[in-house]
Amino acid sequence: MEKENFLNILQQSEILTDVKESVLPALSARGLAFGFSGTTEVAGYEVHICIGASTHFPLREPIFFLLNHKDFEKIPHVEEDGYICYTNDDSLVLDIGNAEGIIRESFELVRQTIIKGFLKQNLNDFYNEYEAYWAKLKNQTIVYTNILVADEVKGVKYTRVREARHLFASSDEAERINSFHRLFNSKNSPPQFQNGLFIPLLPNAKVFIPEGNTSLTIDTIKHLISHHTSVDNKERINKALAKTKIDDLIIFSLPQPNGKFSLFGIRLKGINHRIHPLLNADTNTTITPLRVRHLDPEYMLARGGTGQTFLSKKVLVIGGGSVGSAVCEEIIKAGILSVDIIDKDTIEPENCYRHNCGYKYISLKKAEAIKTKLESYYPHCKVTAFSMSIEDGFNKRKINLQQYDAIIVATGNGTINQYLNEVFRAQIPGIPILFSWLDPYAIGGHCLLTNITDKGCYQCLYQNGSLHNTASFSAPTQPKSFSKSISGCSSMYIPYGSLDALQTAILTVRKLLDVFLKREEQNAIFSWKGNPDLFLSEGYNLSARFHQNDEQLNSAKYLFLQPNCRVCGNK
Ligand SMILES: [Zn+2]
Ligand SMILES: [Zn+2]
Repeated sequence: MEKENFLNILQQSEILTDVKESVLPALSARGLAFGFSGTTEVAGYEVHICIGASTHFPLREPIFFLLNHKDFEKIPHVEEDGYICYTNDDSLVLDIGNAEGIIRESFELVRQTIIKGFLKQNLNDFYNEYEAYWAKLKNQTIVYTNILVADEVKGVKYTRVREARHLFASSDEAERINSFHRLFNSKNSPPQFQNGLFIPLLPNAKVFIPEGNTSLTIDTIKHLISHHTSVDNKERINKALAKTKIDDLIIFSLPQPNGKFSLFGIRLKGINHRIHPLLNADTNTTITPLRVRHLDPEYMLARGGTGQTFLSKKVLVIGGGSVGSAVCEEIIKAGILSVDIIDKDTIEPENCYRHNCGYKYISLKKAEAIKTKLESYYPHCKVTAFSMSIEDGFNKRKINLQQYDAIIVATGNGTINQYLNEVFRAQIPGIPILFSWLDPYAIGGHCLLTNITDKGCYQCLYQNGSLHNTASFSAPTQPKSFSKSISGCSSMYIPYGSLDALQTAILTVRKLLDVFLKREEQNAIFSWKGNPDLFLSEGYNLSARFHQNDEQLNSAKYLFLQPNCRVCGNK
């Protein structure tokens, strides 16, 4: 929008009086095309406001500055240049057909932000956003950390990450150090760690709010430690600082009013021999504020929307094909970080467009490929790969079924599945088993949840010794085989695509989580239906079950069990 148009609309909106064009340097510094200043009254105070816009207004919301913020006590959400953060972009939906409405509504949010600040109703926001204030300090650099926050002062290991040109600080626990090697792929050239310190500040500590673009001083940190740490921790700090060093790194944690933690740090360089600057006067030491990037699983999982509900669960996936490999990835993304995968096959070129691991992994064993890929994508997961058949896994005593909270069977092989069904019933009754498979030609996919209760097992799907799976969407009798072959029997395959494999994997992982959350507590069969056009055009026949609608399928989900099943039925 042109400047003149914007001015007209702004004047119509009557949010400000004395409107003039503004030459505030912050306008161009924040990438805005123009701005206008004016005056209004908020909570009984006269405030001078600048409203800036980019040429993309009204597609991009206007930006407001509180010009006379120095006349008042510091309030949350107003930055050094007066910038008022009144929304985060995603939560505000603008009616781009109503530019004046946008100006009015966004100004109302600005007004509320200022009022809450003046009336001290949002002081907690200072501490909830403490990391953001710390990040405004002069000369700050970044430190990546996976520190496990605790109530006690403890040592940390820190190093410079060569390829990233940043610092990294880890708690001393073996699991955290390991995750460092995974994050930065540094197993081959192990870094030299130095010893730093983790200092937890007390809950409700009213620590100073850093002013933007100011330098940090050693006295500020001394004050922080002396006023906002516990007596026991002060003792630990003094002990730790007494050790000789020329370089130090400290990470502080500050409990936020909202129950989370802020982390921030300092780096000290050029420490005088034997005299730590936090214990003695020392003018030669330089202090650098460190802005923290969180790499701890607690933070990353929470921010990923996953949470930590399933962290203690361990799942075995049998079969690492297109369904099994997608299942592995989705369960890890759901926060189940401990996954075992067993598959004897190798990734072939023809697998690439439907397997979770593509071209990069060709000629690797599927189980190994899944482990390699997922451990590099999700730095806190632990995938154990068994490159063998499940029968060998049992015979060689590699697989101990007792350790799993659930097992997913994605072999795509009805014969093996019948065998596994009997093994599980005998050895681990009560442990949820999810059989997962696809129908040919994208007509659907299925997930049988079983072994939770006694009745209703995989064998129930094969009635009276028939070789036809009764859950299937294809009819028992067909004019020809489903397998297609490009170059003879050695490369037979049943046609389906990646989306169908994914859809089946998603269905299966949803049901797994439902079981863990106790939303499913009975053996049941779940299916998704695809488009049958291709299947029918090839001359194949659909089963009666395919013609049930989703509601009918759902209401019949428990009815698959056979009272005379040779495995779970009445003998
Ligand atoms: Zn803010
Ligand atoms: Zn049965």
